[in-house]
Amino acid sequence: MTTALVTGGAGFLGSHLCDELLRRGLRVICVDNFETGNLTNIEHIRVPEFEVMHVDIVKPFFVEEPVDFVYHLASPASPIDYLRLPLHTLKVGSYGTHHALGLAKKHRARFLTASTSEVYGDPQVHPQPETYWGHVNPIGPRGVYDEAKRYAEALTMAYHRQQGVDTAMIRIFNTYGPRMRAHDGRAIPTFLRQALQDRPITVFGDGSQTRSFCYVDDLIRGMILLAESGEHQPVNIGNPNEFTLLELAQEVIAATGSSSEIVFEALPTDDPQVRQPDITRAKELLGWEPAIDLREGLRRTIDGSARELLVGSPR
Ligand code: NAD
Repeated sequence: MTTALVTGGAGFLGSHLCDELLRRGLRVICVDNFETGNLTNIEHIRVPEFEVMHVDIVKPFFVEEPVDFVYHLASPASPIDYLRLPLHTLKVGSYGTHHALGLAKKHRARFLTASTSEVYGDPQVHPQPETYWGHVNPIGPRGVYDEAKRYAEALTMAYHRQQGVDTAMIRIFNTYGPRMRAHDGRAIPTFLRQALQDRPITVFGDGSQTRSFCYVDDLIRGMILLAESGEHQPVNIGNPNEFTLLELAQEVIAATGSSSEIVFEALPTDDPQVRQPDITRAKELLGWEPAIDLREGLRRTIDGSARELLVGSPR
């Protein structure tokens, strides 16, 4: 039986990935320290093909049974988390990635690292193709995340070139869906929570900064296609439909039928002005493009998580 090990498997994306891999008939080992993930994301999975290891991957970890795929997703991912955990974020990107790559090497497994559009920083090229090297402030508060991910990419290529590990890199653009935490500070869960509670929707700056939002099912499909391909170079996976934050707030109000008003707050440090993936490579290499638009994705997110968004504790 094909076995996939998922680091960060109890997180938002990791838990959806575990669900989909099990649905496709794989055995899945979920490795997590529950720092930003939660048991509630995986407690519905009650099959013998699913195993959970409570492990902090900053320390070396080992698995006896054969492993065919390592999906390396463990990392604080939301600004609220990596600003709270700056050293941990750097350690999980460096030591943690070393340990996950070492495990893939030992098992001769295909390795996929979850990188991010944040490697492009505040981009000077728009939309961003994989060939763009980025514009990152290494010493700003967000540098711990951006540089950890850039280091993880360099490390992945070094294991590939020097050690012959079969590696892949996915550059994930903003993704949303059920199981996002109501208080994780990212735009979609924040706006949905505020709208469902008929509270003011807080938009940073004047709301003219843009983002591209990918529904989680599209993202997971792209991630598995990439893992199952033979590609070693980075591939952007995200939805190229671009919205301003103000447009997003208006879409959320429409989707929820809320009476919330929109209010404006100070822009966080180094908040990128634009963000839009060039997905030409994903289309050509994987035949992948997103199928779920923002309106439909918001509807599915509300259906899948309205209760949590209404009453969610600030975990
Ligand atoms: P998340 O915080 O929900 O999941 C991360 C998981 O990693 C959590 O379950 C957490 O407990 C676990 N983890 C953290 N440190 C660990 C450690 N030392 N040992 C073991 N487990 C550890 O975040 P997410 O949104 O699901 O993101 C998953 C991955 O995708 C991250 O690597 C993130 O950088 C990347 N990514 C996500 C997005 C997005 O829009 N969600 C965008 C770009 C990149």
